[in-house]
Amino acid sequence: LWELDTPERANNYPTDSAGSPFRIQNFIDNEFVENTKTDEWIDTFNPRTGEVLAQVHKSTASDVDRAVDAASRAFPSWSRTTRQERSEILLRIGSILEEKRELFAVWESIDQGKTLARARIEVDRAISNFRYFATYILHEEGAVRFVDGPSSTLTYEHRSPVGVFALISPWNMPLYLLTWKIAPCLAFGCTGVAKPSEVTSITAFLLGEVFRQAKLPPGVMNVVFGDGPGAGSTLVKSPRVRGVSFTGGTSTGIRIRQDTVADIGKHLSLELGGKNPTLIFDDVDLAKAVPLAAQASFENSGQICLCGSRIYVHRKIYETFLSEFVEYVQRNYRCGETVGPVVSRQHYAKVRSYLLQAQEENARFHTGELPDEAPQNGYWIKPTVLGGVRTDSRVMREEIFGPVVTVCPFETEEEAIELANDNPNGLASVLMTTDVSRMRRVGERIDAGLVWVNCWLVRELGTAFGGMKVSGTGREGGAQSRDVFTNLRTLHVR
Ligand code: NAD
Repeated sequence: LWELDTPERANNYPTDSAGSPFRIQNFIDNEFVENTKTDEWIDTFNPRTGEVLAQVHKSTASDVDRAVDAASRAFPSWSRTTRQERSEILLRIGSILEEKRELFAVWESIDQGKTLARARIEVDRAISNFRYFATYILHEEGAVRFVDGPSSTLTYEHRSPVGVFALISPWNMPLYLLTWKIAPCLAFGCTGVAKPSEVTSITAFLLGEVFRQAKLPPGVMNVVFGDGPGAGSTLVKSPRVRGVSFTGGTSTGIRIRQDTVADIGKHLSLELGGKNPTLIFDDVDLAKAVPLAAQASFENSGQICLCGSRIYVHRKIYETFLSEFVEYVQRNYRCGETVGPVVSRQHYAKVRSYLLQAQEENARFHTGELPDEAPQNGYWIKPTVLGGVRTDSRVMREEIFGPVVTVCPFETEEEAIELANDNPNGLASVLMTTDVSRMRRVGERIDAGLVWVNCWLVRELGTAFGGMKVSGTGREGGAQSRDVFTNLRTLHVR
């Protein structure tokens, strides 16, 4: 795999190897290892064709234990390394990833269905994840904080790494999100067992080789593959796992919280789903607002937790916006060119079920259509703009996570805020206006961990990332990641 860095070579690989798909094995103690008990594999599919792409090791409880063992053994010495030592290793990981940028981008694109251009952006972000935390730990001042206590004592707060972490990620931005956990875990002196989504495991598999080449000590970062209820759940529940950093669906987040509730000291960071509003006021320049709204709706086929899936437009410009938006989407978002398929057959069925419901509820399909029940040659769904969807419809309330957006008018600023907040989720939002006082007035009242004003997906790794309401618990990024991966103790020294 390591040499197959063009789409042509990569696409031929599965048939090159005697006609059988390649196998993805666990990475434990810096070795790619055999299954311990059973020989079970999960097929993964190429979303563009529907054909089997690879087979992913279905880890059992004993496989997971073996990885947790390795991480536990590695913790005492890794947690005592200096931050300079850890920083250097993180920088080496970043450099190897950069050398292999095209390899990672090609496989991410094939495995997840995203365009190659999008995959390259995500690999660059993975590289930044390592570089950012490599630099952060050298410059942070929060590791020790002296306090002016009683004169007879020296009083200070001291941070130390928590222990072994479970790092669990979803399929939509596989490498980008997994490294967003791995980098701070290593930087702050924890060891880990990473479990990527069973739907998209290839780049996490390649990452094992990066760790080896970067001379990360054995056991410090292990990767196990497998399904959620099996490998993921065993990992989360392990008493030796002292923290869980999870990104994925809200129902899985709730499950993880229930599964760990008795282990009260376990650190838990949950980044969950969204049903994000985009508010467009009547003072905007539509030539800018339309492309921005389209990008926020359909980037990665709508499979980004931060995608805006509910557009609300001021009544005065509603009709004009709608016709320009629909035309823009039809012209610029084409399946197979700028739009990839959705990730899997199951996900295709899920997105389709919402479109079927929309049709049954007499929503208007301004563009797009109900896809065939059985997907043909890959999991393609046309970008779809829905109008006339009721506010209490599941289509409006639940995360669809596909290329589907609803459009509704609003009359007043107050109503816009109410509509935006009328949802259990609170992850992200977009506000489009040129009125500076409104930017604050509205922006500071939207129930969302992230509010983008006249932009979308801008990210500064030092700022807090995460959601309100059912979209999550805790924040990650910069000092917030430090809080996830470290324990704080206060010392009074006489
Ligand atoms: P998912 O919750 O089904 O799976 C996520 C991961 O959890 C996978 O690795 C899965 O194997 C594992 N898992 C499943 N059940 C588990 C269990 N009981 N215990 C432990 N692990 C378990 O999510 P998905 O379908 O892979 O991803 C899509 C979801 O992720 C969407 O809801 C999206 O909004 C969300 N997401 C959120 C963010 C964010 O930062 N807030 C970012 C990207 C995606």
